[in-house]
Amino acid sequence: MSEQDTLFSKIIRREIPADIVYEDDMALAFRDINPQAPIHILVIPKKPIPKLADAVPEDHALMGHLLLTAKRIAEEEGLQNGYRVVINNGPEAGQTVFHLHLHILGGRQMQWPPG
Ligand code: 5GP
Repeated sequence: MSEQDTLFSKIIRREIPADIVYEDDMALAFRDINPQAPIHILVIPKKPIPKLADAVPEDHALMGHLLLTAKRIAEEEGLQNGYRVVINNGPEAGQTVFHLHLHILGGRQMQWPPG
């Protein structure tokens, strides 16, 4: 697997299965295989940006789209009492899949600070 060809690229290409909840030209969202909350959904760009630190000014609209997509999905999932959106950037933040993704976590009381 090349740096540009992660598990998530394979999910975009339907080469491995996922429980997909949303898709458009720029983004895909699917349920996390190892959920950390009753609702745990990943929102990813179709463009294979490895991590937030690799985003460039031309990704401006895409970044906004990912956040608004997260908001839309949270509404559709009924998370009106709150939810958390997380981006792990790099190994020290716990990033394990190097295709940018937003975690939407909800359905339980969250703690702060995060671990
Ligand atoms: P990270 O730790 O990089 O921020 O998050 C990666 C997330 O991807 C983890 O929460 C992990 O459970 C999830 N994940 C890893 N492999 C797969 C997979 O094949 N399918 C799905 N749906 N989620 C995955």
